[in-house]
Amino acid sequence: MTPILELKNINYSYHTLDGETKALSNISFSLTKGEFTAVVGPSGCGKSTLLSLIDGLMKPESGRLLLSGTPLTENSSKIGYMLQHDHLFEWRTIYRNVLIGAEISGRNTPEIRKKAREMLEQYGLSQFARSKPSELSGGMRQRAALIRTLLLEPELLLLDEPFSALDYQTRLTVSDDIGQIIRRTGKTALLVTHDLSEAVSLSDRVIILTKRPASIGRIVPITFAIENDTPLNRRNAPEFKTYFNEIWKELNHDEQAVEKTV
Ligand code: ADP
Repeated sequence: MTPILELKNINYSYHTLDGETKALSNISFSLTKGEFTAVVGPSGCGKSTLLSLIDGLMKPESGRLLLSGTPLTENSSKIGYMLQHDHLFEWRTIYRNVLIGAEISGRNTPEIRKKAREMLEQYGLSQFARSKPSELSGGMRQRAALIRTLLLEPELLLLDEPFSALDYQTRLTVSDDIGQIIRRTGKTALLVTHDLSEAVSLSDRVIILTKRPASIGRIVPITFAIENDTPLNRRNAPEFKTYFNEIWKELNHDEQAVEKTV
């Protein structure tokens, strides 16, 4: 089966007046349909750079990026986003916020509007369809933002620290909720996060990047032998700590190596 996303030997450097900063070194991985993958790495290693390349905002220096087997182009409608802030407009109702992507892309058809109403119903927001965003909790707002994204049926979801603006308690329940919705819809997702617990609780695989220039340090497959495999249940399972420690160790490996030589 053709992977949804394929990165082959990606290299990227920034060029400024001060010189060259190599950000990504020989990154290769692929995502198969329905897979949830997390990317973690030290601050400043190149995670945002990686997302900008997948987003088509920047071109790799060398290497290839393929989306469903074809080279990536800027603003691909096949990619949907969930960001740190929900970017809901206060002057629009939730229903009209959910439709904004469809309006912008010229797809505001009766079918899409019907689907929007069905999704609001399915995800427990129909009673808020006529509400303003400020009338909703942080979790419900993120749900609305996800519906807005899913409505356009993206093949790939890019999640860039989507829960980091929420307080700790809310964050646990919202990531559980959003994670389960993404699983149910069978979407392929790539989550970039600095939160290892989030990565372990949500994903099938964690890609650990080294410090800059980022290369792939290790890829850790995540499987939980629990009956009801939800992000919250994972956090209470015995495997959780083992995975967390394994990834933590790998991330701190570089630092320890430096300390030992000092
Ligand atoms: P992360 O998202 O992992 O924190 P980034 O991808 O933002 O890391 O940055 C990777 C490296 O590239 C950093 O060292 C950063 O200083 C450098 N960098 C990022 N953007 C630019 C830019 N526009 N010009 C020059 N260097 C940059």
